[in-house]
Amino acid sequence: ARRPIVGGNWKCNPDSMSKLDGLVENMNSCDISKCDVYVCPSPLHVAYVCSKVKEGISVCPQNCNFKGCGAYTGEMAVEQMKDLKMEWVLIGHSERREYFKESNELLAEKMKMILDSGLKCIYAIGEKLPEREKGLESTMAVCIEQLQMVKGLLDPTKVVIAYEPVWAIGTGVTATAEQAQETHAEIRKWIAANVSEECAAGIRIQYGGSANAKNAPELSACPDIDGFLVGGASLHPGCNSLTQ
Ligand code: 13P
Repeated sequence: ARRPIVGGNWKCNPDSMSKLDGLVENMNSCDISKCDVYVCPSPLHVAYVCSKVKEGISVCPQNCNFKGCGAYTGEMAVEQMKDLKMEWVLIGHSERREYFKESNELLAEKMKMILDSGLKCIYAIGEKLPEREKGLESTMAVCIEQLQMVKGLLDPTKVVIAYEPVWAIGTGVTATAEQAQETHAEIRKWIAANVSEECAAGIRIQYGGSANAKNAPELSACPDIDGFLVGGASLHPGCNSLTQ
């Protein structure tokens, strides 16, 4: 059985250290006995949050560079993360793809860098609204394009896929349990055919996109949904129940 994994992506929030302390306190009150739990603070906050979260909660930066340490102004390196005892790195978020023009090629390089350094990777994928409106086939075409270049790296013990339909992110419109389950199952099917049956059976696929305490029970009951990557709701105390 796959162990569920739940992450809170704080994106570029909050805007003060006092609010950050509140978020950490909230995280620390989560029950972490039933699933893996990680939190993605903004780059300025990662080291601080590392020193404040309770044992068992992983800190997962929202990005890393593809070069490592050196003369790369403005960047964060996997060596630094490892030294800070971080375990996970999130890459491929739709906001990074969209606003920072991160390509599948670049993300494959980053994933290789992450895994080579001994860290683990959350890899986000997902279609936009026009593709979803055209149906499952065009939705899957996008997901497959985003998986194609990393398929050789999909080790279930080191990589988690976060399926986050872009139209559901920050919109309050969650994918229905049927839509999410169907897409997760298709992703798993593609991995079975293009990587291996073992990989498909073992790899965890989280759902992200307006997930919250209210819709989580129905989504997490789906056989191919292995937890959540939570944005907006992770900034509010009510999200604690998502780890239940
Ligand atoms: P929301 O939960 O705010 O829709 O964001 C999801 C997300 O982007 C997590 O990475």
